[in-house]
Amino acid sequence: MHAPRVAEKATPYWWEAAPLEPPPQRPLPKNLDVLIVGAGYAGLSAGLVLAREGRSVAAFDAMDPGEGASTRNGGITSGSIRPDYATLTRRFGEEKALTIEAEGKAAREFLYDFIKTEGLACEFQPVGQFKGAFGYEQYEAMARTAERLAKKLGIEAYAVPYAEQRKYIGTDVYRGGTVRMDIGGLHPAKFHAELLRVALTSGVTVHARTPVVSIERDGGGFRVITAVGPVNARQVLVCTNGYTDGAVPFLRRRLVPVRSRIIATEELAPELMTRLMPKRMMITENREVGFYYRPSPDGRRILLGGRDSSRVGDPVAPKLRLRNGLVKLFPELESVRLSHSWFGNVAMNRDMIPRIFEKDGIVYATGFCGSGVVWAPWIGMHAAHKLMGHDAQARTAFDFRPPAFIPFYRGNPWFLPVFIQTYRMRDRIALWRASR
Ligand SMILES: Cc1cc2nc3c(=O)[nH]c(=O)nc-3n(C[C@H](O)[C@H](O)[C@H](O)COP(=O)(O)OP(=O)(O)OC[C@H]3O[C@@H](n4cnc5c(N)ncnc54)[C@H](O)[C@@H]3O)c2cc1C
Repeated sequence: MHAPRVAEKATPYWWEAAPLEPPPQRPLPKNLDVLIVGAGYAGLSAGLVLAREGRSVAAFDAMDPGEGASTRNGGITSGSIRPDYATLTRRFGEEKALTIEAEGKAAREFLYDFIKTEGLACEFQPVGQFKGAFGYEQYEAMARTAERLAKKLGIEAYAVPYAEQRKYIGTDVYRGGTVRMDIGGLHPAKFHAELLRVALTSGVTVHARTPVVSIERDGGGFRVITAVGPVNARQVLVCTNGYTDGAVPFLRRRLVPVRSRIIATEELAPELMTRLMPKRMMITENREVGFYYRPSPDGRRILLGGRDSSRVGDPVAPKLRLRNGLVKLFPELESVRLSHSWFGNVAMNRDMIPRIFEKDGIVYATGFCGSGVVWAPWIGMHAAHKLMGHDAQARTAFDFRPPAFIPFYRGNPWFLPVFIQTYRMRDRIALWRASR
C-alpha cells in the first residue's frame, strides 16, 4: 500500500490560472453614498448595481479582493438551501417554502444570464449535478424530490437507479442518485476577477488591504473608521460573510465561520477521468457532512471538498481525511498525488438561510452557508436595490429578520469540532442503518 503523500501547495488550485490581482491603491475618499465592507462576490455585485445607478461607492477589503471564500470555493453553482423542503414547509408554510425554492431557480438563472450578458470569461459549464444516495430509502426520498422539482418548478431533474449509476460516476459507493441539470460549474477565481473588472469599469472604487475597523452613526449617515483613516458614508453595506471580524460585532455574534477544505489531484489520464466522471458533472452527496467534488474545468483532475473541523494552523489530518474519502470513492486513485490542498471559511447562521437584513440602518448581505456562488451575487444585487429604495427590484424571499443570537458565542467557535464530529457520527449511524 502506498503511503498517502501530503499536498504540495497550500494555496487554491484556482490561483494558478487566476492569481489575486489587487487594483492599484486609490486615495481615501472623504464622502461616499455607499461604503461596502468586503469585496467578494456579494460586495462587488452590490457595488456594480449601485455604481451603474450613479451612486459613489467604494468597497473596502481587509485582504486582497477575493482572498476570502470567493476565490477558494468549489465553483459549483448549486444555490442550495440547507433546510430541506419539508423543514422549510414546517417553519414557514408551503407557500413560502416553494417561494424560497423558486428563488433558487431564479438566482441560478440570474447568474447564468449575468455571466453571458457581461461576457465574463469564467469557464462556466452547464454540465449538471449528480447527488449520490447512501441508502435505498434515501434514494427513494431523493427521487421524490427530483420529481417535485421537475413538476412544480420545471427544473430538469431525475432519478438515476443504482443499476445505471456508472453512466454518471465511476463508483459503487452510492445506492443510486439524482441529477439536476440546472446546476453547473465555473472557475471561481476567474469569476471573481471578471466581476472585479466589470465593477471597476462601472465606477466602483476598490480598496485592497484596507480593513474597516469600526462603523459609527454620524447624524443621518455613518462615520466609518478604516485602517488608513475615516470615511463619511450615507449608507453602509456589510458583505463580510465567513470573514466577519470585530468591526461588525452584531453580525459576528450571529454567524459561525466554518472551514471548508478542497484537495486537487495531479493531472489524471484522460481514460481514467472518463471512467470516474463520464459526464464531467458536479457531484454531491446526501450526508450531513458529505463531500462535494468535480472535475477541474479542463477535465484533467478531480477537486474534492468537505468540512474541516480544524480551527487554527493548517494541520495535515483534514487533508488526509479528504484524501482517504477520495480513495474510498475511487480505489483506483490509491496512489494519486495531490497538487493542492487549501481551505476557506463559509458562514453558518442558526437557521441556515442566506439573507439580507437591516440593523441600526446598516444593511447586511450574508449567511450563504457554503452556497454563495449563486446566492452572494443574487443577495448582493438585491441589497443594492434595497439601499436605493427600489422596492420592486429589492423584493426577495430572503429579506429576513437578523439571524438569531448564538448563546455563549462572541466570535470564537469553540464548539465547532464537537458539532462536526456529532454530524459525522449521525452520518455513520444513517449509513449503518441503510446497509442493514
Ligand atoms: C473551500 C470552499 C468551498 C466552497 N464551495 C462552494 C461551491 O462549490 N459552491 C458555492 O455556491 N459556494 C461555495 N462556497 C461558498 C462561497 O465561496 C461563499 O459563500 C461566497 O464566496 C461568499 O462570498 P462573499 O462575498 O459573501 O464573502 P467572501 O468572498 O468571503 O468575502 C468577504 C470579504 O470580507 C472581507 N472582510 C471581512 N471583514 C472585513 C473588514 N473588517 N474590513 C474589510 N473587509 C473585511 C474579507 O477580507 C473577505 O475578502 C465555498 C467556500 C469555501 C471556503
